[in-house]
Amino acid sequence: MDNRKIKQVVKDLRFLKSQLEKQLNLLTDLLEDKQQPSKYCYAISAGHGGIDPDTGKYVTYPSKFKIHDNLNLHIGNMFCEGVFNRIIAEKLIKRMDEVGLTYKRFYHDYKDWSLRYKSAQINEHHRNRQKCILFELHSNASSQGKARGFCVFTSKGQTSSDRIASELWHEVKTAFENVSGFKLLKQTYNDNDVDYEAGFWMVRNTACPAILPEFLFFDNREDVQLLMNEEIQDIYVECLLHTALWCEQNI
Ligand SMILES: [Zn+2]
Repeated sequence: MDNRKIKQVVKDLRFLKSQLEKQLNLLTDLLEDKQQPSKYCYAISAGHGGIDPDTGKYVTYPSKFKIHDNLNLHIGNMFCEGVFNRIIAEKLIKRMDEVGLTYKRFYHDYKDWSLRYKSAQINEHHRNRQKCILFELHSNASSQGKARGFCVFTSKGQTSSDRIASELWHEVKTAFENVSGFKLLKQTYNDNDVDYEAGFWMVRNTACPAILPEFLFFDNREDVQLLMNEEIQDIYVECLLHTALWCEQNI
């Protein structure tokens, strides 16, 4: 190739390069537009652990589970709270993706991260990256297995958390009005409820507004059948989503 031809090829390549750069900038801008963060980052935490795919075992065993004879649950007739919490968390995240809300998972696929580790991660994100609102997802249990219903906990003295909890409570009240057997509990303190203590730690030790909903009682046979019902799960997820959308406008 002679010099003249080489010069022409270089010229052509430079032109091509500038065209590609323009395209690249355009696409990058487009991508950034689509990733505009929402006002808050919704810190999603699914309480406890899940099922280890290698062993098939529930990592939080022998806690946070209940055997219900003759029901088809997560592992045979065993209901695992951490598995349920993850089902709700993943459904909520899918919906947040669809409506363009920013979120971050603060739970492992199946490992039971310590509360200290989780709250430190959330605080770091809240303080240094984006203001957060924590949804710490749980399902309840009582010592006798007789209690039923939905309730939501917050830490004391955080007024914005109280408003968020109240919004969710009313969303749930309205959404499940026609579901027979669905009960709502107003915030009460129960000394025997270990979940409350753990939850108290998560909402107390996080710097952002935080709510801890306890969706029904998994050790109650009637409630557990509602928990396994995908339609019920989806309605609950919409309540959580609407609460996040409410936060965008009101917090
Ligand atoms: Zn729990």
